Amino acid sequence: MKFGGTSVADTDRIKNAARRIVAAHEKGNKVVAVLSAQGKTTDQLVAQANEISERPVAREMDMLLSTGERISCALAAMAIHDMGQEAISLTGSQAGILTDTSHTKARIVDVRADRIKEALADNKIVLVAGFQGVSTDSKDVTTLGRGGSDTTAVAVAAAIGADVCEIYTDVDGVYNADPRIVPNARMLPVVSFEEVLEMSASGAGVLQLRSIEYARNHGVRIHCRSSFHDGTGTMVVSEEETMEQPLVTAVTHATDEARVTVRGVPDRPGVAGDLFTKLAAASINVDMIIQNEPLGSEHPAEMTFTVPKDDLAVALDTLDEMGEFEAIENDSSMGKVSVIGAGMRSHPGVAAKVFTVLGEEGINIQMISTSPIKISCVIDGDRVPDAVRALHEAFDLGVAEEQATGNFRPVAP
Ligand code: ASP
Ligand code: MG
Repeated sequence: MKFGGTSVADTDRIKNAARRIVAAHEKGNKVVAVLSAQGKTTDQLVAQANEISERPVAREMDMLLSTGERISCALAAMAIHDMGQEAISLTGSQAGILTDTSHTKARIVDVRADRIKEALADNKIVLVAGFQGVSTDSKDVTTLGRGGSDTTAVAVAAAIGADVCEIYTDVDGVYNADPRIVPNARMLPVVSFEEVLEMSASGAGVLQLRSIEYARNHGVRIHCRSSFHDGTGTMVVSEEETMEQPLVTAVTHATDEARVTVRGVPDRPGVAGDLFTKLAAASINVDMIIQNEPLGSEHPAEMTFTVPKDDLAVALDTLDEMGEFEAIENDSSMGKVSVIGAGMRSHPGVAAKVFTVLGEEGINIQMISTSPIKISCVIDGDRVPDAVRALHEAFDLGVAEEQATGNFRPVAP
């Protein structure tokens, strides 16, 4: 059972989480609970670090950030004791979460869950501090990147062979669009790993991307549900387990990327390799890339790609330093809208419909990229809400239509 920051934000909520954990235990389950830091604690710690230092040392950053989760776990353990059950809180390191040494974005390399298993065998409830581990090389505390408690939960679930990894949050489950933009967005009873991966990578704030990859690779069933009520939530399962593959499952969006256009790219082999090697060396994650074949051999090429807004300045510096291009332009007001569905793999016409719908809304498409189960369009950032609503409607994804079309099977997880 993993509880996010909002679900442990204050004393009452910690007690609420503790009650749910105890209830699950008293039903005869063995329970490991992974907790996030309370509310905005991690943000505040990051801000404090930035107040002290312009470039906080990464090792100390992890010492600092990992405290938030420990607080939540210790407090919850106290609450559980008061409810008459035995509980033990563990840091990531004590829980056997072993990582590499890349501070602030470490990867889990192994989970040695002996201590967790022993405590469970003693009929104890185990509380594990999320988002952290210990480096096998340096023995230093590491953290797993923002949102990393999801990954802790999945990794622990895999290591102990849990029946299910329940992710408790302040939303009811995974929605087929952002309900703040689409009021009749529908909660998905079941969704496949592949689809959630694409959703998460294209802007949906459902789960840390890495946690979904980990769950898929280790076959961990994820159940996303509300910490505030007993709703059925969303089951994330393998594609074979989702009986039906709807053409379109969800519409997602992002406004945190910027577009970079490089004009006058010399038309010779190796240029793209060079350019993107330099960007990768600066740790910039490039998303969409477009290059057109130059019109004639004497014309230089033109290349456009997107980067996270936060990395735009570094990206532009990196390109400038190369000094090989005629012009470098950028647009940080772009938005991206994506349509995701496992069924589009085997059905033609989805892309055509997406483009037509956007065209009818008078929304200009600047870039397009696809995967077998996703179509993404870069559009003007201001038009993102209109685009999301129009696509959601066009593919009959709303609550009312769903009953009429039977686009999804109702499943009680
Ligand atoms: N507390 C960390 C964060 O805010 C980890 C997490 O909540 O999953 O990113
Ligand atoms: Mg979180």
